Amino acid sequence: MAKFDWIIRRGRVLDPARRLDQALDIGLQNGRIAAIEKDMPAASADHVYDACGKIVTPGLIDLHIHGYHRVSPLSIPVDHYCLGRGVTTAVDAGSAGSGTFDGFRAFAIDRVQTRLLAFLNISCSGLAFGGLGGDSSAVGELELLKLANVRSCVACIEANRDVAVGVKIRLSDSICDDGKNEAEAYRRALEASREVGLPLMVHHSFSTVPLDECPGRMRRGDLYTHAFHGFPSTIVTQSRQVLPAVRAAREQGVLFDIGHGQGSFNWTVAEICADEDFWPDTISTDLHSGSAEGPAYDLPTVMTRLLRTGMPLMDVIAASTVRAAQAIGWEDRLGTLAEGREADISVFSLEAVDMDLEDCQSQMRRVTQKLVPEAVWRAGVPGKITQPKQFPNAESIQSQRRWWEKLEIRDSPTRGSSSTTGTDKGSQ
Ligand SMILES: [Zn+2]
Repeated sequence: MAKFDWIIRRGRVLDPARRLDQALDIGLQNGRIAAIEKDMPAASADHVYDACGKIVTPGLIDLHIHGYHRVSPLSIPVDHYCLGRGVTTAVDAGSAGSGTFDGFRAFAIDRVQTRLLAFLNISCSGLAFGGLGGDSSAVGELELLKLANVRSCVACIEANRDVAVGVKIRLSDSICDDGKNEAEAYRRALEASREVGLPLMVHHSFSTVPLDECPGRMRRGDLYTHAFHGFPSTIVTQSRQVLPAVRAAREQGVLFDIGHGQGSFNWTVAEICADEDFWPDTISTDLHSGSAEGPAYDLPTVMTRLLRTGMPLMDVIAASTVRAAQAIGWEDRLGTLAEGREADISVFSLEAVDMDLEDCQSQMRRVTQKLVPEAVWRAGVPGKITQPKQFPNAESIQSQRRWWEKLEIRDSPTRGSSSTTGTDKGSQ
């Protein structure tokens, strides 16, 4: 009988947690990593995957997705968009609240091959009504303050400690009764997360809460997601610097997460941050029904964008594996390739390309390398690799242009005809 179920052979193993960048073979047995060595004999396994010329990483961790498929209207089928792109652990960011979490466990967590964890929404409804993308008929989850109930949030997390990794709140005036409920709901979300001892993830755009309170009042280990958006509440100033309050928050230990989504990754902001050496701590997609077929597509595409800003490959992988695991307190189980760990493993090629890649407002940059998912194992079981319907998605690029006028930070109109809609006289 063969010793291993699988051997992943001759790949370039990149494991930032162990500072490993080396050609190695990985042997899988009974769902776990049984050996990491050089030159394992192929005959010692039932199945052999030839990873020659490819990158082998710990299974990716996406800290911000929406996976309450068919219940929360903006959610996506998780295995198709996550596992199918090399993400073995996905964390739902508040699609469910205490009133809807039971179903989330039964119909999402328990039914997908991807490991699915969750930040619980401070609103007990979660995103049951779910408007994103400017749908003015959608009802926000904090239109009524009584939906933000600290007691029920804490009780739900206590009852689901095995999968609940934190609390989520969205701070935007349009979902909080024209901003009237934002400050108090934020206070309650901070209180709930302190009580359970888990991080708070905050979405903060078009918010009445100023930056010296958010991220200013967040604490060590809390996550400021959508960090690189260019809308009101952006972390960079009109003079193109990272705000002092934001730097102070980082020094306090607040983590800055990408949360790309439909509106929250802007090339101009990302490049200002790169120039200032202000890199994201974690890279996530905010995949939902408005972002999964463009502009975000999937985690490898979002990682490709960070590579384009000059973030080194090892750091990009760290921000999508070990640092993501640390952010949710799961570093003892996830984020590295070690013997005895569950065999969550991803394989990519770093393809040479020469193409334009959009941000969320259809500003374009030329990219010359692209991370492409090739294979994935979740607890030793291979997953099915999937592709976007269209890449790049011309229809999405066309429709996302409508947001450009709302940006506070963006390319100057002189940057190039493909960069912008080209007609605005704004000086930003
Ligand atoms: Zn989200």
